[in-house]
Amino acid sequence: MTTAAIIVAAGRGMRAGGGTPKQWQPLAGRRVADWTIDAFRMLPGVARIVLVLSPEDRAAWEEFADGDLILAEGGATRDQSVRNGLEAIDNMGIIRVLIHDVARPLVDAATIHRVLEALETHPGAAPALAVTDALWTGAGGLVTGTRDRTGLYAAQTPQGFRYDAILAAHRAHKGGAADDVEVARAAGLDVAIVEGHPDNIKITLPGDFARAGRILRGKMDIRLGNGYDVHRFGPGDHVTLCGVKLPFDRGLDGHSDADVGMHAVTDAIYGALAQGDIGRHFPPSDPQWKGAASEIFLRHAVELAASMGYRIANADCTLVCEFPKIGPHAAAMQAEMARIMGIEPSRVSVKATTSEQLGFTGRGEGIAALATAALVAE
Ligand code: MG
Repeated sequence: MTTAAIIVAAGRGMRAGGGTPKQWQPLAGRRVADWTIDAFRMLPGVARIVLVLSPEDRAAWEEFADGDLILAEGGATRDQSVRNGLEAIDNMGIIRVLIHDVARPLVDAATIHRVLEALETHPGAAPALAVTDALWTGAGGLVTGTRDRTGLYAAQTPQGFRYDAILAAHRAHKGGAADDVEVARAAGLDVAIVEGHPDNIKITLPGDFARAGRILRGKMDIRLGNGYDVHRFGPGDHVTLCGVKLPFDRGLDGHSDADVGMHAVTDAIYGALAQGDIGRHFPPSDPQWKGAASEIFLRHAVELAASMGYRIANADCTLVCEFPKIGPHAAAMQAEMARIMGIEPSRVSVKATTSEQLGFTGRGEGIAALATAALVAE
């Protein structure tokens, strides 16, 4: 089903302070609107994105004019802006539409997927959080009463709808709705409630920028580690490098299978986690690891990362040797390392260099490997 997203960015949002509308204010190194637009760009199922802009935001009109977004002009009220966004994609074969406030830059893919899933069985669906705080009425700084919170929800966006139904609902609406769920309900459409996310906050007041920044920085927790390993050549008829067995007139000495490349990557992951190295987790003094496939070590490091809340963003390994030639096998090594780590091959690099016949690798006494791994918080 062809899905479009409408990002409503025409508001003036002056309650957030700062002198310019909140969507154009900085947040963790970019503008609020950039985070919000990218949240939908990164969803493979969203075919078109409409950005509804105020006619006053001339710089934004110019900036986005030649890009991948469809631009629509905002109206005097929010529901007019949404209607203009909907009209901009009429006759494009859109089946489902997600309508989102630009001031919610932290929307997560799981929330959006819950909305889309509910649209399989309902004409409308929107995320919300059940109200858990006690509710009061107040006046003049004093509590004047309490309200029952049973059945009350705090609404979020994106609010999703079957396109034809919400377009007809907006065309028929008299105006003045707080959100699109109100417009949909006025037209008699059922709107399913799906679970929202507490981080999907709407930037409204000055303090909300700091809060959103803290949430984004938490998500951007990146850790780097490096690893270095050497194994000496000894008798044998093959070497195992980055999980691939290469026929050779010698072997590599070592307690395990002496896969120097895989050891360097494994140590890079342990390093990023500040969890020591292979020797700490698999002591060479323990006979059970004699001749072990190094896959066990790498898998352990990846699982340790996952248990600490990190996934492997990428790994880069350089093998240093004169022989055997690595180039013809690099793609197979990349694929094997990616398989073991459970990540895309495009996130793994295996490359090689000689040391110009200098030093122990240059004299062909052994192979060295260096690796870097980057881990990001889930
Ligand atoms: Mg080693």
